[in-house]
Amino acid sequence: MPQSWSVTIFRLVAALIAGAIVGSLYGSVPGGMLLAALGLLGWHLYHLYLLDRWLRTDDFDDFPSGQGIWPEVFARISFFRLRARRRGKRLRAVLKEFRQSAAAFPDSAVILSAHNETVYFNKAARQLLGLRKRYDRGQRIENLIRVPAFIDYLHAGQFSQPLEFSLPPSNKVWVQCRIVHYGPEQSLLIMQDISRKKMLETMRRDFVANASHELRTPLTVITGYLDVLADDPALAEDMQGPLQEMGRQSARMRVLLEDLLRLSTLESAESSPKDEAVDVAALMSAARQAAKALDVHPNTIDIVVDSDSKILGVMSELQSVVSNLVVNAANHTGVDGKITIRWGVDDRSGYLSIADTGIGIAPEHINRITERFFRVDGGRSRDKGGTGLGLAIVKHALNRHEAQLLIESTLGKGSTFTCVFPANRITQ
Ligand code: ADP
Repeated sequence: MPQSWSVTIFRLVAALIAGAIVGSLYGSVPGGMLLAALGLLGWHLYHLYLLDRWLRTDDFDDFPSGQGIWPEVFARISFFRLRARRRGKRLRAVLKEFRQSAAAFPDSAVILSAHNETVYFNKAARQLLGLRKRYDRGQRIENLIRVPAFIDYLHAGQFSQPLEFSLPPSNKVWVQCRIVHYGPEQSLLIMQDISRKKMLETMRRDFVANASHELRTPLTVITGYLDVLADDPALAEDMQGPLQEMGRQSARMRVLLEDLLRLSTLESAESSPKDEAVDVAALMSAARQAAKALDVHPNTIDIVVDSDSKILGVMSELQSVVSNLVVNAANHTGVDGKITIRWGVDDRSGYLSIADTGIGIAPEHINRITERFFRVDGGRSRDKGGTGLGLAIVKHALNRHEAQLLIESTLGKGSTFTCVFPANRITQ
């Protein structure tokens, strides 16, 4: 026990004894003790009054002097008050710095509560989203950004990938948004204006589409004259070889232009309409026919249909997906190899897989394989008539059907390409 408390208790006992002695002189020991206790109580009440008066002032250092235990209590409270004031100052400085840096932050930042209400937003967010400091603080973010894709993203809670969308009403401003949880209660919504990036993407896509379109007509003329020349009986014998090569190269160029045009159409559009129920078994047989039409192809191409379900989407796009994957599999699998095309459905998704026992793909190439013009072996791809755009077309056509492409492969053993369609794209 601290010494000050021993002294205080000693004084209390001494006062009660003194009260008892004085009381005995006047014929009432309890009366004397009661008077002594009341005196002590009054003394403590007086110190409580001093404390209360001091606490109501901003004078943290100049605490009342007091007697007994009280100077120590006052000094301790003064120490805590000073410490709290120092901490408060530090917190205010940190908050000011945070506000200044958040205001200078070029991207829009919105702090959201557990119920997605805005707790704070910076200047960039006010400008981008047209938020008003007074009225929009505390509002639910769904009421401030009324974009269905954003609301779905917010409620799904899967924030590993950013979301891109255009802002109404003009839809000219494109943003990329990310949500980061910090602590159990709050999250940070960061939005970046990507309108310029989108504009450049559109320009690139339009340029490729226009250039491909413009090149088609001269190519048709060249091919026509090449055909006429090839049929000319007066053609010198040493010109026949070069002429055939020119014919092959112009055919290659035509396929390339068609693929470029198809890719730019797939890239530009949003998700595919769902009004057509596409028969998957028919797509699989057509793709098998396409593979069998190749000069060299595996002898065994099996089709396994585990479900009668159909896919809601666009027939020509899905046809392009399946035939690209099956022809690729045929081009990379020897004559003695095997291809299995399988369609199945469970309660979550529809799975269309193309498995081959061909050359396989090294792990370091798998992530890049759907990029435009990426080829593991350029020479082999060109020999087989590949444009390097097949898997890019597959990826974009699948994106338009909200489907994913999964690639599993073992070098020297074979590959499996699986298209996973969401349940809302499957029908009976
Ligand atoms: P390409 O016109 O060259 O086939 P793709 O985009 O269709 O272009 O394919 C890109 C590359 O991916 C191919 O060049 C090839 O190296 C590799 N690839 C695609 N499918 C397979 C497969 N089933 N087995 C092995 N490699 C494959």
